[in-house]
Amino acid sequence: MKLPIYMDYQATTPVDPRVLDAMLPYFKGEFGNAASRSHPFGWQAEKAVDTAREEIASLIGASPKEIVFTSGSTEAINLAMKGVADMYGAKGKHIVTCESEHKAVLDTAKHLEKEGFEVTYLAPDITGRVTAEAVAEALREDTILVALMWANNEVGTLNPVREIGALCRERGVLFFTDATQAVGKIPVDVEADNIDMLCLSAHKIYGPKGVGCLYVRRRKPRVRLVAQMDGGGHERGMRSGTLNVPGIAGLGKACAICEEELTEEMEREIRLRDLLEEKVTSRLDHVHFNGNREHRLPGCLNLSFPYVEGESLLMGISDVAVSSGSACTSASLEPSHVLRAMAVGDELAHSSIRFGIGRNTTEEEIEHCANQVVEVVKRLRELSPLYEMVLEGIDLSTVNWAGGH
Ligand SMILES: *Cc1c(COP(=O)(O)O)cnc(C)c1O
Repeated sequence: MKLPIYMDYQATTPVDPRVLDAMLPYFKGEFGNAASRSHPFGWQAEKAVDTAREEIASLIGASPKEIVFTSGSTEAINLAMKGVADMYGAKGKHIVTCESEHKAVLDTAKHLEKEGFEVTYLAPDITGRVTAEAVAEALREDTILVALMWANNEVGTLNPVREIGALCRERGVLFFTDATQAVGKIPVDVEADNIDMLCLSAHKIYGPKGVGCLYVRRRKPRVRLVAQMDGGGHERGMRSGTLNVPGIAGLGKACAICEEELTEEMEREIRLRDLLEEKVTSRLDHVHFNGNREHRLPGCLNLSFPYVEGESLLMGISDVAVSSGSACTSASLEPSHVLRAMAVGDELAHSSIRFGIGRNTTEEEIEHCANQVVEVVKRLRELSPLYEMVLEGIDLSTVNWAGGH
């Protein structure tokens, strides 16, 4: 076993060697521009792009013509939301999204607010989920877009996209889902799931960084977008710029592998995820589960360890690369906006750890991770006056810390 152990698969994933092999020819002899129509170099590149389009479309139940390549999910999110706002803004100015979305969605929504759009930010429930009923209540006559993620990147909670999509379809509102964490991890079918637009990113599914795509429905309904990048009119005019052929070939291969191994890999990751939780909670008390037990990603486990400081915990478990909902690990001073939106409380947010289980995770790694977490939490709690009070049966919520009246 190699240390440190990578358990941050929601942040990014390593490139699968099979994906790398599929990319290499397009860095070497087959380096053509997919837009070059007059010679074999261009034709080879175009063929690689066409193959990738088919592989991606197959994984999500789309038609290859509905795939628009981008530099990743962030760009695809910008294109979907701004593209719809620009195209349908005369029809209505209201957009519905959620407080626990990825910053790419939230910041794009804020941008649109500055341009005169009105955005409803739904609060998720305490498990991180938005119900179709909550969406129904938020819809208005002038709503043009609902933007809700499929799987949350911090807690792994899945939204009921099929129901939300059906509701939007019925009400004539476009439905965009950020499926960056869902595609390749759970079954996704844009037809059955009633999706109009969907984004995905190669580096979250064992492909390269800097490439992704937006699925844009072509019929029932035909979604129209105003391009956000002007240039040569590539990608049916929706996204100009020379295509990243090696990256796109890698994304295609990454999708093909995910499709082939989906069921088996889901089962494997669920088993390892549950094993990790069991190994931690059987030896530690006061461990809090963040997320939804019923509707969740296979490879994501988010736990809080109250009475322990998040930063000390992260530093302590130095054999394991994970992320925390604590403030100190990110550029912002606030604890995770996702855990805040779920109203889990700052104490729990600050001591939360996201464990990501992925394609390369082994049982041995899970064992080692669990052992180190248990050891470090026990050690830190021995130093914690709060934890001592809890053991003595004092209800911390009743303590008057300031000593006043
Ligand atoms: C990683 C991620 C993004 C951003 O994707 P990039 O391709 O890195 O721009 C957006 N949404 C979610 C849910 C993510 O996990």
